[in-house]
Amino acid sequence: MFAMMESARLEALHLAQDPVTGLRAIIAIHSSRLGPALGGCRYLAYADTDSAVRDAIQLARGMSYKAALAGLAQGGGKAVIIRPAHVDNRGALFEAFGRMIESLGGAYITAVDSGTSSADMDCIAQHTRHVTSTTAAGDPSPHTAMGVYAGIRSTALVRFGSADLDGLRVAVQGLGHVGFALAEQLAAAGVELLVSDLDAGRVQLAVEQLGARAVAPEALLGSPCDILAPCGLGGVLDAQTVAGLQCAAVAGAANNQLATGEIADELDARGILYAPDYVINSGGLIYVALQHRGEGLPAITAHLAQIGLRLNELYAHAQAEKCSPARVADRLAERLLYGT
Ligand code: NAD
Repeated sequence: MFAMMESARLEALHLAQDPVTGLRAIIAIHSSRLGPALGGCRYLAYADTDSAVRDAIQLARGMSYKAALAGLAQGGGKAVIIRPAHVDNRGALFEAFGRMIESLGGAYITAVDSGTSSADMDCIAQHTRHVTSTTAAGDPSPHTAMGVYAGIRSTALVRFGSADLDGLRVAVQGLGHVGFALAEQLAAAGVELLVSDLDAGRVQLAVEQLGARAVAPEALLGSPCDILAPCGLGGVLDAQTVAGLQCAAVAGAANNQLATGEIADELDARGILYAPDYVINSGGLIYVALQHRGEGLPAITAHLAQIGLRLNELYAHAQAEKCSPARVADRLAERLLYGT
């Protein structure tokens, strides 16, 4: 376990269990150099404890990079609660998790993630104030979508010479909380929309309300378009899918879009501009971090606008250094986190 921590440069790993509620939780704190660690809490079934710990560590590291490049005074952390086969009282389990967070004295601040909801955060909030995305705090997804939209405009400016999206063709994969909100903004900007989702109802809605063209999920990645916006699951870009892409740029909300780090170089070699996922999708994190600090909407909106500027900066460095923007982003984050 220490080897795993060392290789990820993880600061701390906390484990807690509570036989009364069935809680078995892991909190990974990757870095607190820039501020207290902030990151979501997953509630999922895992094959074994090692996989859960590995997931928490990798995700915590990703949060440090995201917060650093978003210019937040926030470190990176992540929590994983191993979902029991059966739970009598979900609320009590999340309350026990709230007590665990409180015992860390503010070193970790939690948020909604895969398998958790605002209602779970409300249970946590009964025992600690180190929690965001409660029912009262609201859904961060529209803010993620706003940041991705700003990032797509920056990408268009670099790739096509104008941030005006009118007439461009954008393919949106996944019409969930973020993807649909993004599609709405793109449609309003005059974009020709191609959309896919595993849920036919979401696709139908986009066709009827936004004038989008439906594409089968297995065909979307290879559809000719100007910009591809992956907004479904991670890992969609691998050697095979990249070889089939017919777009000039990839800029979307999904976390961990690249199956491996080398895929960034393959995109670069194909002349496809890639917006590093953790930079373009940082709007939700910016929202929860600033809201937790008591900032109002004007300050949040101003900070969200910086996503586009940050991407412009990364693209300029990448052009000058003839490498992928993803490599530049990692290097910049590491400089901020480790001073190297
Ligand atoms: P969501 O679960 O609401 O929506 C995801 C949608 O993608 C679903 O409708 C699903 O059916 C669809 N989908 C999954 N695989 C697909 C495929 N192969 N083809 C077509 N559609 C597919 O999730 P969300 O909150 O909208 O988040 C979307 C992505 O953005 C995720 O990767 C998430 O980690 C990332 N993200 C979200 C936020 C946020 O604020 N919600 C913030 C940062 C990153």
